[in-house]
Amino acid sequence: MKLYNTLTRRKEVFQPIHKRWVGLYTCGPTVYNYAHIGNLRTYIFEDILQRTLEEKGYTVKRVMNITDVGHLTSDADAGEDKIERAAKEEGKSAEDIARFYTNAFLRDIKALNIKKPKYIEPATRHIKKQIALVQQLIDKGHAYQTNSAVYFDIATFPNYTKLSRQLLEAQRIGVRDEVVRDPEKRNPQDFALWFKTVGKFKHHLMHWQSPWGEGFPGWHLECSAISTGILGQPFDIHTGGIDHINIHHTNEIAQSEAAYDKPLANYWLHAAFLIINDDRMGKSKKNFVILKDIQARGFDPLAYRYLTLTAHYRSMLNFSWDNLKAAQNAYENLKLKIQIVLTPGNKKDANEKKFKSLTETFQKDFTAYIRNDLQVPQALAALHTLIDEILSLHISKPFSKKQVKRMSLVLKAADAILGLNLTESPTIPEEVKKLIEEREQSRVHQQFMQADALRKKIRTLGYEIEDTPLGPFIKKVSSTPNT
Ligand code: AMP
Ligand code: ZN
Repeated sequence: MKLYNTLTRRKEVFQPIHKRWVGLYTCGPTVYNYAHIGNLRTYIFEDILQRTLEEKGYTVKRVMNITDVGHLTSDADAGEDKIERAAKEEGKSAEDIARFYTNAFLRDIKALNIKKPKYIEPATRHIKKQIALVQQLIDKGHAYQTNSAVYFDIATFPNYTKLSRQLLEAQRIGVRDEVVRDPEKRNPQDFALWFKTVGKFKHHLMHWQSPWGEGFPGWHLECSAISTGILGQPFDIHTGGIDHINIHHTNEIAQSEAAYDKPLANYWLHAAFLIINDDRMGKSKKNFVILKDIQARGFDPLAYRYLTLTAHYRSMLNFSWDNLKAAQNAYENLKLKIQIVLTPGNKKDANEKKFKSLTETFQKDFTAYIRNDLQVPQALAALHTLIDEILSLHISKPFSKKQVKRMSLVLKAADAILGLNLTESPTIPEEVKKLIEEREQSRVHQQFMQADALRKKIRTLGYEIEDTPLGPFIKKVSSTPNT
């Protein structure tokens, strides 16, 4: 299996540290608001990665942090604790805010068939480990204290930019304003490991005792502490969106590797952005869409999952309501076709030689695609081709029960990766179902004019009927959701 490693900028053969299990760390959400569908795109990519590793036979120990203590989450931030701000705005406690949006996040990933990571770890439950890491860095001369914070001293870590391959100067823009202004800081790029509740942060709600006084952890610390606390160091794979390469992951590497003189993770995988109106979707940009918006417009969350699978994870993906509509149509049609394919016709096997060669070629190609740095769009295209070819054979000479059973196993195996509930019947609106049934009755009673009128009515609701020896074949022609 090959994966593109940001560290080496190359596709590499994946060699796990342990024989049977893979340690996978995926940076999680900051729970002061809903995750937007750009964030969710990254989590879907990570889910596909996990499923691909499982298909290869590994047990995946997946760890995801939940950032439930504020920090800044983007370069544009003025350093305000976002969870505390949301708490003030909504008149709730910081804990309530974190709990509310953590639950919303868990609901979203469930609706998108994203497997729940084995370890979901709120940062506030790992404060001791974070403090120990800061202490280790101070003891080893990689960190220093000022009146307002403890900083990582990047001058002591020569390989600081190995992940980003950026010039150090470029990183300056990524550093928080008030941090740059701390006159005791040695280097503008030094980043905070621990903030003291003094000055600007005097009234910070969430704070803990530490050897450096009351305070709270810096932005990057939790990921270093939680990942190696559960998976060991080094562990296999660390992932996130590309925005994390230059600062967050660069700083995680600096902290962990300076502390323990060994790599943090062997493979670093990064997902490209979801774009909307030619701009990156972002929480601070106010151009974001959340899963609830998608559901409110009548779309199936899995149609969004399907949309994300049409682009490779390292390519940008454009979101628009029209794209989503097209994805929903393609997805529903695929499922409708699968329903026909899984309806047995003959007692005897039909076209067995062709059936065998089509399904075997598909399985070989599908596996090769996903194991080649998760080429999911190609795998999905192979699935469409298979279904179309099998369907036309099936309609001309129906397959047997046994063949259909085999087909169902082939589809279930593909769906173990894609996570699209492919073999479940699609949700056709009750009204359409009733009209289809009425039309069948009219045909049985040879009332062809009425049957034709019903077909037209069904057409206005976005579904087309094609009569086949296996019964009426329903096709989606336009999306019902109103956009
Ligand atoms: P955050 O809550 O901002 O830490 O983001 C959670 C995850 O979503 C991180 O892995 C980010 O890199 C990723 N992410 C943020 N914005 C986007 C976007 N527009 N498209 C894809 N992934 C994103
Ligand atoms: Zn992280």
